[in-house]
Amino acid sequence: TAAEKKVIAAVEKRLYVDGRWVDAAGGRTFDVLDPSTGETLCSVADASPEDGRAALDAAVAAQPAFAKTSPRERADMLTKAYELLLERIDDLALLMTLEMGKPLAEARGEITYAAEFFRHFAAEAVRIDGGYQTAPAGNARFLITRQPVGPCLLITPWNFPMAMGTRKLGPAIAAGCTSVIKPAHQTPLSMLALMDILAEAGVPAGAVNCVTAMDAGGVMEPLIRSGLARKLSFTGSTRVGRILLEQCAEKVLRTSLELGGNAPFIVFEDADLDEAVAGAIAAKMRNMGEACTAANRMFVHSSVIDEFGRRLAAKMSALTVGRGTEPGVNVGPLIDEAGLEKVRSLVADAVGRGATVLTGGEVASGNGYFYPPTVLSGVPRDAAMADQEIFGPVAPLTPFDTEDEVVAAANDTEYGLVAYVFTNDLRRALRVAESIETGMVGLNQGIVSNPAAPFGGVKQSGLGREGGTVGIDEFLETKYIGIAMP
Ligand code: ADP
Repeated sequence: TAAEKKVIAAVEKRLYVDGRWVDAAGGRTFDVLDPSTGETLCSVADASPEDGRAALDAAVAAQPAFAKTSPRERADMLTKAYELLLERIDDLALLMTLEMGKPLAEARGEITYAAEFFRHFAAEAVRIDGGYQTAPAGNARFLITRQPVGPCLLITPWNFPMAMGTRKLGPAIAAGCTSVIKPAHQTPLSMLALMDILAEAGVPAGAVNCVTAMDAGGVMEPLIRSGLARKLSFTGSTRVGRILLEQCAEKVLRTSLELGGNAPFIVFEDADLDEAVAGAIAAKMRNMGEACTAANRMFVHSSVIDEFGRRLAAKMSALTVGRGTEPGVNVGPLIDEAGLEKVRSLVADAVGRGATVLTGGEVASGNGYFYPPTVLSGVPRDAAMADQEIFGPVAPLTPFDTEDEVVAAANDTEYGLVAYVFTNDLRRALRVAESIETGMVGLNQGIVSNPAAPFGGVKQSGLGREGGTVGIDEFLETKYIGIAMP
């Protein structure tokens, strides 16, 4: 449509380096596809390793002056950027739906969520604190202050194209760190659109740079190994996170990693079933299931599993699948052919091992990477989807009988991002929440993400936290100054 063409035309498609838009070396580009049709939306600059280096050099050059800006100036930049994001929410949401596929209502939700990170970190920027302490022997004083880590490399995934960027840029700017951000090749447009907003909000040239590239590893590895950046913050798969952590070891970079999840969703026999079903829809269907927080294994007490399954299947089958731009659509396409194929093969594996399809499970013919909302019951614990991220709208139900058994099953994974627990028994809720090995627990709620709360995982789900009052710590070093007072 005309509105779609207009938002695509309006976004810059080059690299944002040192406050200027520049072509990639040799004018190279790659295509951005619409996952609802498989057709090309536009092409954007495909950075070479040298282009990446120019962006990092700009960040390094801008670092000393940016570190000296006042906290209030940086807070004002973030507040202005927050306001501009909300002012332009219609265009930004449409742009996101086109490149990523999620329904417009969810894209709008993400722009608001993304903007909230800026609002949150605007408040944090002016609250970076320190300390003054007397040495135990009384003969010295300790001044404790916080300083920006230095230039940062930020790498973000395609599932939340705007929010995963602002969640890193917010605290980086608040702390006074400069950065190079590299969005996923599937969804570069949202981050490119953000660069104009940051410039308008007064973020100085070089303080934030954006490179888009098809060969992420080829461009980022030399930057990581150069030692010029002092920190890497990455959101993506555990597989890539491991590679990056190794690369960071060479120059001992600070690292923050938000990696994969395999969230258990546990419904006890005393839970409010309507609440649990609503929570399941939220935890499963947000973003078509393409979220590291998505409920990946649903353990339901055997006395309520049939009723839960019926109600969940009824709600899931009532969802409307379609292009995210169409009114009334709840479920958009998956990101690409590989994503669709993965969901398809995980479902085939589960069914082959004895799972029953309560609803969905059949891919319709036609263009775009659509997969229908699906509920599977009787999914055995050795199914492939029990230890892999499904990243699609598939809810696998598995019965359990005792609390000990379900906690052990929930913890039987290399991941530890989030767990969802539904029960009305307070002591059980606390017992289970304490014994589950995850960084986050949703208690009688299916969504945990909130810019003001510390988001992150344990085990192989990552290192560090984003958001909350601790989110800025990841971008700060603590310096202690000792003063002799004989
Ligand atoms: P997903 O499976 O969700 O695509 P990835 O971990 O592959 O997750 O991608 C997340 C981000 O990491 C993307 O921006 C992608 O381009 C980038 N990426 C992928 N491989 C590498 C790599 N070897 N080095 C640096 N970045 C990478």
